[in-house]
Parts: sequence; C-alpha cells; structure tokens
Amino acid sequence: MFNSSHIEISRSAYLSNIKYLKKIIGKDARISSVIKGNAYGHGTQIILPLGEEAGIDHFSVFSAQEALEAFQVKKPETRIMIMGHIGDDELEWAVENGLEFFVFDMERLKQAILLAEKTGQKAHIHIEAETGFHRTGFEYEHLPELTRFLKDKKEHLVFEGLCTHYAGAESLANYLRVKNQILSYRKFYSYFKRHGLLPLHRHTAGSAAALTYPATIMDMVRFGIAQYGFWPSPETQMFHFKKENLPGNGLKRALSWKSRVMVVKEVEAGQFVGYGDSYLANKKIRIAVIPVGYSNGFSRSLSNTGRVLIHGRRVPVIGTVTMNTMTVNVTDVPGVEKGDEVVMIGRQKRMNISIASFCEMSNQLNYQLLARLPANIPRVIVK
Ligand SMILES: *Cc1c(COP(=O)(O)O)cnc(C)c1O
Repeated sequence: MFNSSHIEISRSAYLSNIKYLKKIIGKDARISSVIKGNAYGHGTQIILPLGEEAGIDHFSVFSAQEALEAFQVKKPETRIMIMGHIGDDELEWAVENGLEFFVFDMERLKQAILLAEKTGQKAHIHIEAETGFHRTGFEYEHLPELTRFLKDKKEHLVFEGLCTHYAGAESLANYLRVKNQILSYRKFYSYFKRHGLLPLHRHTAGSAAALTYPATIMDMVRFGIAQYGFWPSPETQMFHFKKENLPGNGLKRALSWKSRVMVVKEVEAGQFVGYGDSYLANKKIRIAVIPVGYSNGFSRSLSNTGRVLIHGRRVPVIGTVTMNTMTVNVTDVPGVEKGDEVVMIGRQKRMNISIASFCEMSNQLNYQLLARLPANIPRVIVK
C-alpha cells in the first residue's frame, strides 16, 4: 500500500450508533446525517453508503462542493441538503439536480426561483430563521416580504424545511440562550402557519440539542458528531445519562487511526533526539520512528507530550513531531521491530487512545481533530 498510515471505520460501531440515536429521537423524526468536513474526517465515500445501509435517506453538507462529492456516491432516492455556501454558478446545478439547500436571504431565494423557472425544476428550499445564533438566517422583520414572495412563487418551489441552528447547546452556560432560541423559532413557525405556509420538516437540532433538549427534535435532527460515536461535550454526555438513566456509553467510536514502525534504533545517553534540543536522552534508550507527522494530521503540539500504542503499551512521543515523522520511546517495550503496528487513535490489546485524550493532549476540540485528518489517508471499513 502506498501510504504511511490508514484509518479504519467500524461498520458495527457506526450502525449501532444510528440505532441508538433513532431510539432517542423516536420513529416520527427523520435523521439527516451531517457529512460536512469529509464526514468529520471519516470519509464521505465510506460514511454515506454506511448511512444508507442504516436506513438514512437524507444527508447534510456545508457547500456545493461537498454536495457534489456526496451526489456522486449516493443512491438515486437519497436527498442531499446544503447548509452553507453555494457559489452563484453552483446554484443552477443544485436546482437542476433537485438538491435541497438553506436559504437565508432574499437574494439567494430570488436567484433560486429564477433558476427554477429557467430549468423547469422546483427549488427545494429550507428557510433558515435567525433565532439568536447570529450567523445566517432571516430576521423576523423580513417575514412579510418573505412569505409574500414564497406564496407568489409557490409552483416553483418545495418548502422542504424551516430550520435554525443553536448557539452552543453542548454547554450548560448557554442554557438561556438556547431556550430563547426555541421560543423564537416557535414564533417564526407560527407566522408561517398563519400565512398558510407549512414546511415539510421543522428541524433545528444537531447532536447536542437533540440529546439535551427533547423539544428541539421536531421532524428531523441533523446528527453530526454523535453518529460517529462522540459526545458533543462531556456535559452533554453526563446530562444525557442522568436524564435517560441508561447504562454504558451508548455511543461507540467508529474510527481508528493506525501506522507501522519505520525504524528502531538505540540512542546513547547524552544525545539529543530529533531537531534542536527539545529531548535529551539521559540514559541509553531505544526509539522507534513512525512515518506520521503534522502533515498527516498528528499535531506538532504533541511534541514531547503525545502517546501512541505499540504492543498494547502506551509509549511517549519524544522530541518534535516533524512534517512526516514522529519518534517514540520504546525502551520499556521489549521486542519492538520495524513493521509493528502503531495506534494513534483506537484500541490495541487492552489499551485505548480515545479522541478525547488525544484532544486534551493537543488542546484541540474533537471536532477539529477529526476534521483535520487529511483526506488522502486511506479509509477502510472493518467489522
Ligand atoms: C455541523 C452542523 C450540524 C451538526 O452538528 P453536530 O454537533 O456535529 O451534531 C447541524 N446543523 C448545522 C447547521 C451544522 O452546521
């Protein structure tokens, strides 16, 4: 294989997560699987078909570019929703191919309707409400103009959804803000209803909201991080288990990241290891070089602090992580040889390196760490 590391995605873990999340949201709510950021580093081409296998028929991406990637691997009946960026020249493609997309200003709406008229395809729109996140979305004051226009152009569009996004439902510190957003969303919905415009889906929740505020589940949940087996935050996890009184974790990490030892050698006492003088061998040590560095997603801030697994033992990264390699101290692990398996994230024998511990070591959010795993690392599905 032409690669220095690979990522394994566990089919059984992923399917079990979807089953668990379905149980939480009930059978009346639909799941939209959020696969932006290369499916949170898991690989769109791996996750989308697995999601379809689990019965998911709706996927959310950020941009038209991500939508195209998903479009190329999906089943014909599977729906794709673009939540963010669509370039002017991409909008026509989206309308023509029946993709769903967020609309958060009159300009995009008018463009979309023009293209619907031009192509003879209906525009499948989700109206985004500004409820307090303050990024994108229509303000309440815009509703008279908006609803008038929607009614006017009724035959050229499908009102797929009325949506919003919460400002940090994963942290208790935002409790009031989220509560107010829920109220504000209801005001928007009432307005549309009074004007005879009923969206096919009311959807507001991502993982944290759905797991913490049941009122946000509505007709559809946009599950990102949870489907991959991670809690949005430790608070969400604690709160969820208190509420549900459920045993065990309930979510399983689906991703592991592995490599192999490239070289093993000895370093005499008094020698520095790697660039500069950040690591001094104070006795004779054995080191192993791993062909994974910061260009492969192993953060440079893990220099002298990271850990990996070899022979089921945790071994420390010594010296600086370079662009393509890191060095670990294997003095206390007998018999390490070139070609032995190295685990950066995942399990080996009875030891485990979780994303959470990995993140704490490098001070990164798990979202960020996952999304930064380079797309060119091969992904494979395992049992
Ligand atoms: C990323 C995203 C989600 C999913 O969030 P998770 O916390 O990963 O579940 C949902 N909705 C929107 C608009 C998003 O951008």
